[in-house]
Amino acid sequence: MSPNPRSTPPLTHALPSYLQADNLGPWGIFLQQVDRVTPYLGPLARWVETLKRPKRALIVDVPIHLDDGTVAHFEGYRVHHNTSRGPGKGGVRFHQDVTLSEVMALSAWMSVKNAAVNVPYGGAKGGIRVDPLKLSRGELERMTRRYTSEIGILIGPSKDIPAPDVNTNEQVMAWMMDTYSMNQGTTATGVVTGKPIDLGGSLGRREATGRGVYTVGVEAAHHIGLKIEGARLAVQGFGNVGGIAAKLFAEAGARVVAVQDHGGSLYREAGLDVPALLAHVQESGSVAGFPGGEKIEDNAFWGVDCDILIPAALEQQITEANAGRITARLIIEGANGPTTPAADDILQDRNVLVVPDVIANAGGVTVSYFEWVQDFSSFFWTEDEINARLVKVMKEAFATVWQVAHENKVTLRTATFIVGCQRILRAREMRGLYP
Ligand code: GLU
Repeated sequence: MSPNPRSTPPLTHALPSYLQADNLGPWGIFLQQVDRVTPYLGPLARWVETLKRPKRALIVDVPIHLDDGTVAHFEGYRVHHNTSRGPGKGGVRFHQDVTLSEVMALSAWMSVKNAAVNVPYGGAKGGIRVDPLKLSRGELERMTRRYTSEIGILIGPSKDIPAPDVNTNEQVMAWMMDTYSMNQGTTATGVVTGKPIDLGGSLGRREATGRGVYTVGVEAAHHIGLKIEGARLAVQGFGNVGGIAAKLFAEAGARVVAVQDHGGSLYREAGLDVPALLAHVQESGSVAGFPGGEKIEDNAFWGVDCDILIPAALEQQITEANAGRITARLIIEGANGPTTPAADDILQDRNVLVVPDVIANAGGVTVSYFEWVQDFSSFFWTEDEINARLVKVMKEAFATVWQVAHENKVTLRTATFIVGCQRILRAREMRGLYP
């Protein structure tokens, strides 16, 4: 049915305030990124409104007994941004600053990311507004289980598959899998990914995001004639993503000269001892107090002399305030949403190449997909097989994005959005509207 040309004004209402570009919060940033890609979508642009409205969003109350006998309430979320290409897929984040708007943006970036690497998923994300470091292990388990039960109406192996994200790990996934399975009366390992190996997890999943960051980083460096051997690296966030990426770059001969995390910032001109720093973080929870580096001001981190910068922590770290001081030629986004659109423009003017989150950190969800496939087939692959397939997916996706960027003379971010959004909206168009 073609739209009635006389039907003005349009029947669709303007977006409600919580869906609008709210002073450049993560969701506002996503909307700006969609506006930037729209001119490149051709006839599919008629479906672009789909991307500006999450399919569904659930807010849940998560009450638990604290160890002291009192009851605490936390706010939890699960958002399905888009499921045109398959079930929802995306992590669960525990952080004191989590909001619905942030989870909406993170779910939307999952839609684009999953489409960009062509895994058969839509985009979803979840979170709880809590500082998990303040909870005991028992409190953390009770909160995880109650949250899983509350979002039980949305998740399932063929509906929506959560995974680890900031401050969640294999143990949290084990509790989520168990809670869902107890409610279903059958063990459903495929309901989450990033599980312990003994519970249907995949070899290589823990390192997959960092390995993907490294893989596309090497490809990008090659394109701009930057040698990894001897390259100076600055890394923000030294957990599962930044720590592993730093390790792989260091093994390839790069020097990790600066690191920053929630505990502080460190510098060492000759390069930090990455295995020793990883062991220190494992033991103490942050880079703070590591004896093998000089403590620097957090703000000075952004101006250190380096060739490659890897933001691998939270959103909105590279902004108008520091983009002009960054000396790196290459930025590889391990985090989701670390760069604001205004900072993107400054970096583009300064000829800094940004490999965006929606491709750079897609290694995690790629191996999540392998885990899910292994769970369904109850047949498990070797680590070498997994790593080889991961590298193949990442290199092919990066080559496609690089070519699209070149053809359209756009940034790698817009190019990845072109590839991802076209796949999502083609699926959307072919499926048609129900009813
Ligand atoms: N949380 C990760 C991400 O942001 C992984 C999601 C997944 O494996 O489903 O991409």
